[in-house]
Amino acid sequence: MRPLDLIRKKRDGGELSSDEIQCLVRAYTRDEIPDYQMAAWLMAVVIRGMSHPELSALTTAMLRSGEVLDLSDLPGAKIDKHSTGGVGDKTSLIVAPVVAAAGVTVPMISGRGLGHTGGTLDKLQSIPGFNINLSLSEFRRVLKACGCGLIGQTAEIAPADKKLYALRDVTATVESPNLICASIMSKKLAEGIDGLVLDVKTGCGAFMKTEKDSVHLADLMVETGERMGKKMVALITDMDQPLGLKVGNALEVDECIEVMKGRGPVDLREVSVELAAWMFYLADRTPSVDQGRQLASELIGNQSALQKFREIITQQGGDPGVIDDPQRLPQAQHQSPFLSRSSGFVTSIQCEQIGIASLVLGGGREKKEDVIDPAVGLVLHKKVGDPVREGEPLCTIHYNSDAQLADARALLQQAYLISEKPPASKRPLIHRVISGKGTQA
Ligand code: URA
Repeated sequence: MRPLDLIRKKRDGGELSSDEIQCLVRAYTRDEIPDYQMAAWLMAVVIRGMSHPELSALTTAMLRSGEVLDLSDLPGAKIDKHSTGGVGDKTSLIVAPVVAAAGVTVPMISGRGLGHTGGTLDKLQSIPGFNINLSLSEFRRVLKACGCGLIGQTAEIAPADKKLYALRDVTATVESPNLICASIMSKKLAEGIDGLVLDVKTGCGAFMKTEKDSVHLADLMVETGERMGKKMVALITDMDQPLGLKVGNALEVDECIEVMKGRGPVDLREVSVELAAWMFYLADRTPSVDQGRQLASELIGNQSALQKFREIITQQGGDPGVIDDPQRLPQAQHQSPFLSRSSGFVTSIQCEQIGIASLVLGGGREKKEDVIDPAVGLVLHKKVGDPVREGEPLCTIHYNSDAQLADARALLQQAYLISEKPPASKRPLIHRVISGKGTQA
């Protein structure tokens, strides 16, 4: 097999065989194919797309590039959840403890922030001492001890994805539904799970901006997971404005703790409860999704989820004291309000500008090697539909450097649209549920 022939075949709209795809992925993972040839092939995939058999072959090849965890020695169902990414999207930190508190094992391998979106790992690392770099044997130990572990992709899990992802990030080949599907599913299928709930975001803050594109990606992932024998469901959820009120790593951990104390923003709680309910249903923990919702609400109300989060933090070397005293989370030195220039109603909040504002404050990375400032970010005071008066704060900026504050302000100027009339309609939080054949509720 010559890489050149495979690039040409894809470029000209041909279909690669499973063997060809497997050889390509294996050779690239072993450094036998240079980045420039792989990048050319990826671009051909972005432009030409993939057939179902090609996507299946790519996902399998990436999955098999590393270890596949066998968690069959742990009792009960193992269920995970994955989000395609958004702004203020922090549900994993609530959902994982809620579901584990009901005795379902949650082996969660998460990602870092990507572009304007935040990442679960960066949020967790704002908890002093929290170790996301567990070896697979330590991960197993934590799963046995408390039923949930939250770690980053290790060298053993889907190494092909690790390498391909870094290449895609710098060659404008991220936004391909096929490549996103293979990337996410290869990692998730390596976790040894029985079922997966996908949170596919839609709207201005998502990678897939339209519902049609989000549904297409969800269909691909649900089909791919089912073909591999997993119970699958995808929720298309709204990302046309940030989820909750806090954006930034430590701020988001603080907001999740609030929700698990029975407080916090309603939208964040509702999406978290919905995701947890589907996880319970896939795990056969509850006979219906509605009973799953009730169970999730109970576990939040009686503080079992909070107690489980305390256990997870302790098991992974973090300071559980942040739960009772969130001031122990990193705090920015300064706060500055961002004021509305007019009176009226907030009719849109451009998520991408909000996400990038948090990133330029130091909350995300512009280059791979950038170090994150866990304390910075934004606290929103107004969401879409809210009335606002001129001079009233739309949000508060938590910052550590004046230069970064100025950059963030410039972005925020473009983020809010204030109009005389409120928006005509309210977008739903949950747009659609796409169940696999084996998971119709
Ligand atoms: N998240 C991933 O893990 N991979 C992608 O390609 C996009 C989002």
